[in-house]
Amino acid sequence: MPEDAPQAGASRTPVVQLDNIHKSFGLLEVLKGVSLTAHEGDVIALIGASGSGKSTMLRCTNLLEVPNSGRILIGNEEIRLKPDGHGAMSVADQKQLQRIRSRLGMVFQSFNLWAHRTVLENVIEAPVHVLGESKAEAIAHAEQLLHKVGLYAKKDVYPAFLSGGQQQRAAIARALAIRPKVMLFDEPTSALDPELVGEVLKVIRDLAAEGRTMLLVTHEMAFARDVANHVMYLYNGNVEEEGPPQKVFGNPNSERCRQFVTPRQ
Ligand code: ADP
Ligand code: MG
Repeated sequence: MPEDAPQAGASRTPVVQLDNIHKSFGLLEVLKGVSLTAHEGDVIALIGASGSGKSTMLRCTNLLEVPNSGRILIGNEEIRLKPDGHGAMSVADQKQLQRIRSRLGMVFQSFNLWAHRTVLENVIEAPVHVLGESKAEAIAHAEQLLHKVGLYAKKDVYPAFLSGGQQQRAAIARALAIRPKVMLFDEPTSALDPELVGEVLKVIRDLAAEGRTMLLVTHEMAFARDVANHVMYLYNGNVEEEGPPQKVFGNPNSERCRQFVTPRQ
């Protein structure tokens, strides 16, 4: 079974491993050999200027983008890639891709809820139609998650009637509904009006406190410093600096990183 069963005698298996990932779009090399290891309970923040490759790194993790080279392991399962015949790579095994995707909950900047489904219907969609859960079971779990993100009262409402912060909290509940091993957040608060950022950060902070494993792309530096136990600063497709938040924010080796994390007047 390709399950994440602990191996006798082995040290802790990482939940996510990216090893020397390269990714190009045409002639543009966007990731130039990046690596990442997330163990159970790690909260890893990816920071860096716009265009540095943060989203691409996250999207490679769940194969929304397929790397040109390098290895991706989710639990102890390595994703099998094959040449696509046009100089790039593709996923070799769609069943494996589905299995891997079901372990990763992704939250995007632009909530991406289904407009013609209520909040509850959005949350039960994947459990029922992808994972084959019974509707009753999916609803019970969804209601629990909507309580957690503070949206239970809005469960029968359509997304258009929600604020951006509420929509994003619904999107987080939807991502959690598949019982993922890892949550991936790509700038979850960047599309929000400033007064709505806090309510979404609070939900993410609660998830971190529960010990959830998370990869988080964010421009909220104070939040990253507070919530992450490991911070990676990307510059131009490379991990230029990484370490505990105190180090990356307080005393980085890279001058570029120092400038990036230093608040401007
Ligand atoms: P970040 O999230 O750090 O802002 P991205 O990973 O989105 O950076 O993008 C890194 C670079 O890759 C940018 O120059 C961007 O324009 C380019 N890029 C991202 N996605 C694509 C794509 N699908 N096709 C072509 N170029 C892309
Ligand atoms: Mg991005």
